Order: sequence, then C-alpha cells, then structure tokens
Amino acid sequence: MPGTILLGVDVESANESSATYARCGLEFLRQEEIPATWYVTGQTLERYPQAFADADRTGLVDIQSHTYSHILLKTVLIEVPPGLTIHGKTDWYMQRGGSVEQVDADLARAQKVFEDVLGRRAVGLTGPWGYYRGLGDRPDLLEIVHRHGFRFLRTYARNEKDGQPVPMVWQPFFYRAQGFSDVLELFVHDYQDDFYYTAFNNLPEASSYPEHLRRMAEHVAANDFVWSLCTHDHGCATLEDFARKTGWLCDLVRYAKGLGIRFLTGSQYYAERLAARQA
Ligand SMILES: [Zn+2]
Repeated sequence: MPGTILLGVDVESANESSATYARCGLEFLRQEEIPATWYVTGQTLERYPQAFADADRTGLVDIQSHTYSHILLKTVLIEVPPGLTIHGKTDWYMQRGGSVEQVDADLARAQKVFEDVLGRRAVGLTGPWGYYRGLGDRPDLLEIVHRHGFRFLRTYARNEKDGQPVPMVWQPFFYRAQGFSDVLELFVHDYQDDFYYTAFNNLPEASSYPEHLRRMAEHVAANDFVWSLCTHDHGCATLEDFARKTGWLCDLVRYAKGLGIRFLTGSQYYAERLAARQA
C-alpha cells in the first residue's frame, strides 16, 4: 500500500476565518473527494454552532477537538536554530503550558460544548502548538485526556528542539508504555503549516512549499508511511483568502492521489488500528 495521509485542520480562529472555513472547507473536501478531520476549539464551536453542526451532519468531515480555549497542554521551549528568527526570537522561545488543573477544566468544557453543539463527545484531540514526545512523558496528562474520552491524539508535533520538521519515520503509536494502550498518537509530521515551513527554512515566503510537499508525498508512498498532515483556518475570512490558503493543499492532494496515497480521517485510522490489533 503506497501510504496514508491523515489531513487534519486546526479550526481555531473563532472569527470570520472559521466560519468561512466551515463552508468552503467542506466544499473543498467534496470537490477533491477526500475525507479530513477538523480539530475545532470550543470557542469556535460556540461562536458558529450552526455552521459546524451542519458540517458535522454531512458526514464529509470528522469533527474533533482542539481544546476549549487553545490552552497548551505542555510548555513549548523552542531551541531556535542558528540564523533563524522564530516567533521573534533568535535563541530560545518559550510558550507556557497550562497547569494540570487548567487543562482538566478546559477539556471538560470542550466536551460540554461538543455535546451542546454536536450532540456527542469528541474522541480525537489536537494539543495546541504540539510538543516533543507528545504526552509520552506526561502520564498525568494522559490520565486526564483518557478520562475525558479522548482516544486519538495529535500532540507529538515537534522535534527534539521543540521545532520543525517532525520526521516521517516517527510513526503513530499507542501509549502502551504509559499504561494507555487504547490511546493512539497520530503525530503532526513535517511542518505544521506553510508559515512554519517558511520560518524554519529562513524563507521570505512559501512559494516552494508545494514542491517540498510533493517530495514528501513520494517519500510517504515509497515507504508506506502514515502522514499526519496539518493546516489551519488562519486568514481564511474571504473566498479569495481561502483559495490562497488552500492552493498548496490542493496541489498536494492531487499529486498524492496520483501516487496512490489514500486519505483517511483520524477516526477511520484509529478504528483501523484497533481492528488490526484485535485481529
Ligand atoms: Zn492550534
């Protein structure tokens, strides 16, 4: 089998960009004939309940959680590579994570909003910003996400310097060593989006991103890798903005399909892994 792409979109802006994404993003999936997972913050769901409830009912998209308030589950400490400027810093950049109590309360609220808006709870969770090792070194947080009902995670989204890219050779795994053998880590591979591709490659803009993604798709197809691919609803307020933001994605989707790569949602892939384990 020539590889799998799990397309995941963080829908988190809680403004016009999210509303436009709900509408145009769905049309995009319909046109390209691929499934995807949207990881939506509770604040975004609350602001546009109808748009996301409508999208959820189509069955075209797998809607999962990106916390309530975009609270970081862990502190991110980026060791900025020499010569680069990341988030305005040239040596270290720190973004502080929430306390265990704050994370617990936030995830409870996120699930409450899911029930109120979509009539169900989320089983997938993307950890804001993403972290080296995911939650592998935080069994206390794994206990919390498990208790709130999350079974597949995108929390491993940075390399050992808390930067990018995340190598494709790191493949999805169950948190068995930590005692949570039904919780699957999907990763976020490569770069989290076009903006991190430019920042970590010291580029003025992202015009070479489509070429880079095509090479990654070939790498995935040749090795039958699972590629957890990420983008965001950032700057998607108008139709033109949406088209600009999804230009590279459109190119990649078509190229990957040509290579025979399949697309699955997070939920579909989780079910497949569970079934394979039980067989
Ligand atoms: Zn996010």
